[in-house]
Amino acid sequence: MSYNFLTGRDYLTKRKQKEKKKLISVALGFPDLVFAANAIPVFPIRMEKFKINLYLMALNSATSLFGWDLTTKILGIARQLDFLKVVEKVLDDVVNSINDKYNEMYDLGVENGVPSDLCYGVNALYGMHKSRGSVLDANLNFAMRCGKWNKFSESLQSIVPNQIWVNIPPREAENEDKTLEIMVNNVKKAISELEGITGNYITDNSLKKQFRIGNQVKRFYKTILYEICSSDFYPCNPATFAEILALLTISFQDYNSNAQRYLENMSQLVTEMRERIKKGIGMDVSDMPRILIAPMFGGWEPETHEIIYELGGRALYADWEILGLIDEISVSENSDPVEDYARFLLDASKKGIGCDSDALTNSYLNFVKNLEIDGIIINQLFGCPSLSNSYEILKSKIKSELEVPAIVINFRKIGENVDVVKAQLRTYMEIFK
Ligand code: SF4
Repeated sequence: MSYNFLTGRDYLTKRKQKEKKKLISVALGFPDLVFAANAIPVFPIRMEKFKINLYLMALNSATSLFGWDLTTKILGIARQLDFLKVVEKVLDDVVNSINDKYNEMYDLGVENGVPSDLCYGVNALYGMHKSRGSVLDANLNFAMRCGKWNKFSESLQSIVPNQIWVNIPPREAENEDKTLEIMVNNVKKAISELEGITGNYITDNSLKKQFRIGNQVKRFYKTILYEICSSDFYPCNPATFAEILALLTISFQDYNSNAQRYLENMSQLVTEMRERIKKGIGMDVSDMPRILIAPMFGGWEPETHEIIYELGGRALYADWEILGLIDEISVSENSDPVEDYARFLLDASKKGIGCDSDALTNSYLNFVKNLEIDGIIINQLFGCPSLSNSYEILKSKIKSELEVPAIVINFRKIGENVDVVKAQLRTYMEIFK
């Protein structure tokens, strides 16, 4: 999965040039319509050139030849290496490589006219489009009720002329049918625009096939969150585990541009994790408090999970679960997939992507309760008025209703505030001693 993330540029170029596939940029985890159109969804940072760790290249070749089990044995016997250490080092390098690129894209966004008082994520996304937008055939954009996001999306028109907008209407309890009708029409409009750009029909069957693949991916994702995260024994140390969760958050946005391959990787990942836990390979984490760090998708300080680990905790990332994006899309033989997708979008909007404070707070509370989270670190993004106001309310609700200690940390750019965060977390983690 990491390898596929970092080598996206070659893969995407090949599919565009040799197979004449259309590249459509997506973000936040909405690639399904693009897959159903037989086009390639891409979270645009993947079109960049990344530094690739040599071990990762070797591991990728070895595992595709021998499978993980045999590769582990070969590495262990032939070179007396601690396999977990290799994986830790590789993941560390992968996350660092992605983060360096994120900062580069952020700087590009700021230099090219996006006012820097926008949140990190929007600046970085703008930079990604500025850098490689010319190879994109369109951008598929789900309009949220965040003015800054929508303003940014409008500004993309000058880089990627084909903009497909899916507006998600506010859900009014007294008028559910009308809201659903509007949502269905908005999805239909996007489908016909995608068909025009790709030259491919999006049929009920292609939608259902994609939703089924997506649902399996989501089931594995939830297994990692609910089964593995709640285990008292981890398949690796908690900092590496947090890195895997961070990579899942980033890579899920375009399912690595190949949903079937991503599904197979997810399946292998879950099998591997379960096997390790069963064999007792990994780390006893029973006395380490579970600390949720959220949200991280709009930009976060990746050092945070390392710091938490050093201070005796285990950090988790679960943005897409909290925002309802890994909820399954109902699929049945006689159902209308457009309506099913419209319902899924409305439900996700109700959970938090609609930027509604109460909805977001409830999603957090549910997740904290369900996963028996011991503490929560709220990542307050500089330049995000839409969500920032919710955080103080969220912090006090989590404290008063669940008696879970919460802390707000500030984020502007990767690497900028590490010492302050470290000092804050040192005091915060004392609570769990
Ligand atoms: S809600 Fe906040 S983090 Fe999300 S796009 Fe808007 S400003 Fe950025």
